[in-house]
Order: sequence, then structure tokens, then C-alpha cells
Amino acid sequence: MKCTTCKMQNTETRVVPHYHADLLGAPFDITLINSVKEVWCVECQKKLSTTIPELEGLLQAVAWSRAFTSRKLSGEEVRFLRKAVGMKAKAFAEKIEMSPENLSRVENGQKPLGPGSEKLLRFFVLTRMLDDDVVAKIGNEQIKKLFDVKIESTWDPEKRLGYAYKFRGSEDDVSKRHKYEPVAEAA
Ligand SMILES: [Zn+2]
Repeated sequence: MKCTTCKMQNTETRVVPHYHADLLGAPFDITLINSVKEVWCVECQKKLSTTIPELEGLLQAVAWSRAFTSRKLSGEEVRFLRKAVGMKAKAFAEKIEMSPENLSRVENGQKPLGPGSEKLLRFFVLTRMLDDDVVAKIGNEQIKKLFDVKIESTWDPEKRLGYAYKFRGSEDDVSKRHKYEPVAEAA
């Protein structure tokens, strides 16, 4: 890669220890540990590029984590989950027996989901991610655990949810979602 400023080809690649990812404006703090690569010009110390590997896998990993977090979903989060599984509002609403108008009100924060509807929505999101699971059995065990999650309807709105992940490497033969491994992080 050539530096856009000095036109030299003297670059180095650095792995970022802690990268704070802004994913589709997701309402979460997402930290990537030793997963993001940056290319820097050695001559003028300018950052030339940033690469987040397997972005789709990361989206799915975050959606998966959120589905297992007990805090009630906000409208923004419902929209994030729907997008993470790559669905248009109309098709998504149809699958969970909701009118598109109702889903739109939920996503805009005008109408809260009842706990039963919310669990169905979470369940649907998870099943959408199981299709390309190499280890389907592990997925099924996980899915059963979803029904032990109690949806909490009171929380501190000032406190953003945070998740941290480490990229496993693209050569690993695992599903997209499994390309990112959740890590407990001391922020
Ligand atoms: Zn340069």
C-alpha cells in the first residue's frame, strides 16, 4: 500500500489491542481485542487503513450476545437485531406474527414489546443464525438456555450494554457467528 501523503511504500501493519467498534450505529459498546488491523505509513506516521475482519460474523456475535442478555430490548435494539440477521421489516414482522406498522412502532420506541413477544423475537433471531452452524447441536443446547433468560423490564437507561470479542481467525472452520469469541473484559 502506498501512502497517500508521502507516496512511499514504507508501511507497517499493527494489531489494535482494544478497538471500539461502531457497528451500524448499534446501541452497545463493542470492544474488539487484538482483532482489528491497521496499516500505518512509517515515514509520516499516518494511518492508511483499518480492517475489521468478518463484519457479518461480528454482527451476528453481537446479536447472539444481546439475545441472551436479560435487559428488555429497546426499539433501537430490535432494529439492530433485525438488521443483524439481514431481514427487511416486512418479512421480519410476518415471521413473528406482527403487522409491519406495529413493528415500526416498536422499532421507533413508541410501543414496548410484551415479554412473550420479545422472547419470540429473540428466539426467531437466534434460529436465523443457526442455518450455517457447523455444530448445530451446540446451537440447540444454547437455544434451550434462551428460555431461562428472564426479561428485565427495569434498568438504568444511562448504562449502555457492552460486549467484548476476540476474532478467532478466518481460517478456522466455524460458522460466521463463531468467528468472534466473547471475552469477559475488565474495561
Ligand atoms: Zn507517508
